[in-house]
Amino acid sequence: TVLLRFAPSPTGALHLGGLRTALYNHLYARKLGGKWILRIEDTDAKRHVPGAVEGISEALRWAGLEYDYGPGRDGPHAPYFQSERLDLYKSYAHKLLESGHAYRCFCSPDKLAETREKLARKGSNSTYDKTCLSLTEEEVGRRVRAGEKFVVRLNDGRLPERTTPSDMIFGALRDAHASLPTDPVLLKSDLFPTYHLASVVDDHEMGITHVVRGEEWLPSLPLHLDLYASLSLKPPQFAHLPLLLNPDGTKMSKRHGDVQVMDYMRRGWEPGAILNWLALAGWGVQHDATESPASSSSSTTRERNAPDSTAVMSVPEIIEKFDLSALTHRRTVLDPVKLEYINKHHIMRMCSTPDGLGDIARRAHGIVKAAFPSSQYTSENYLRDVIRVLQGRLMNFQDLPSIAPFFFESPDLLAEEAKAMVKSTSVFDYQKATQAVIVRLDQPAFEWNIQNLLDVLHEESATLGMSSKVFMTILRHAVSGKKTGPSVPEIMFVLGPQRTVERLQAGDE
Ligand code: GLU
Repeated sequence: TVLLRFAPSPTGALHLGGLRTALYNHLYARKLGGKWILRIEDTDAKRHVPGAVEGISEALRWAGLEYDYGPGRDGPHAPYFQSERLDLYKSYAHKLLESGHAYRCFCSPDKLAETREKLARKGSNSTYDKTCLSLTEEEVGRRVRAGEKFVVRLNDGRLPERTTPSDMIFGALRDAHASLPTDPVLLKSDLFPTYHLASVVDDHEMGITHVVRGEEWLPSLPLHLDLYASLSLKPPQFAHLPLLLNPDGTKMSKRHGDVQVMDYMRRGWEPGAILNWLALAGWGVQHDATESPASSSSSTTRERNAPDSTAVMSVPEIIEKFDLSALTHRRTVLDPVKLEYINKHHIMRMCSTPDGLGDIARRAHGIVKAAFPSSQYTSENYLRDVIRVLQGRLMNFQDLPSIAPFFFESPDLLAEEAKAMVKSTSVFDYQKATQAVIVRLDQPAFEWNIQNLLDVLHEESATLGMSSKVFMTILRHAVSGKKTGPSVPEIMFVLGPQRTVERLQAGDE
């Protein structure tokens, strides 16, 4: 059975890169009909940030990425906190000591620094001179009994012949071992495991079949494979996800503003849109605008299996199309402009069902209320109408107050934008247009719907012999004071007869 894991360290808030890793674990597990574990890698007490685990769980919950096993969801591989599995790592270190694949090293940090310097001066690639490898068993026993501190190192001289590591996304990694430290530490002097030992032991003990993680761990892959080999264990398959970049090509980091998932939650992005955006980073293909994807003879198999880089998809749709082998190993830019596009389309999709529309209206309510505290037009029902006519213009539902304030308060016709709209319109034309419409709308038999409003406006502009552009601009000015927005009949429809007529009259004054 297929089993994956997302294994964050609780060293702070979840970043977009971490969410992308969790997402790909989810997608791949579901694609293969498998499950995934949330494992908390908290063996480095110094870097543990209180509340981080809760923050990570909350972000995953918000995104709708439900892990099958993990904190609060016990299963056969519990516990899911590495700090609760320390004995296990010790027992594996012991196994390696017994078989001669590891040894105890008593060198002090000062001594090690000195050795490293000496080796570097000699132009050597080694980082340790293996002094302690030649200690006799009696010597080791004596020093352990005397309470001397030691670390456990991998004995890389004992390894079976190494083969070229292979990654599902990066392919064969030639010379991958060249940059490894000499006899890396597995167990620290406080008997806590290093990340490498804990990760390999847990992946094996938990029965992980595929390790999907960030590219920053790719350099550790050869070491992990050495560990599997030393323990005579079969390694899982590995897939490393390419680094994410800012649009300016720099590595995504804290310094660049919004990288925490929390920031995106607060900013009102749809979780489905965020996942869609992240899924397409590295998977979607940026098609050359001058070339149709189908005719592109140079596209590789990888790219043919990938969707367009702006395809709007829900998680189930992504799972259906998902193909890990179609992923690129090239670093990919996470473009905020693309998120706006995708989010807008997710909102439009939501608006097509009563539940989705209701959900957005409910969330928009607080935002609108805060922006217009004295407005009486903020009910959820009213917001549904507003959102329905605005949907194609809403990048984010939190933009509602700024893009269409006229639905909540009277337009400010003295504002520059409003004045500029009718700068070259004569007062006479303005009155003619608004009065004619008022007369038509005031009729008791007039049935208030968008089609009827549209018909009336067309008829009146024809009767008055006014160009429909001038006519519509006058009316748009009166009802909204804004150059852009939904169509004039749509705005009128949402405002209702009374407010529409009032505004037509007020615009006239
Ligand atoms: N604990 C590591 C991290 O925080 C996870 C590395 C892995 O997935 O093996 O990124």
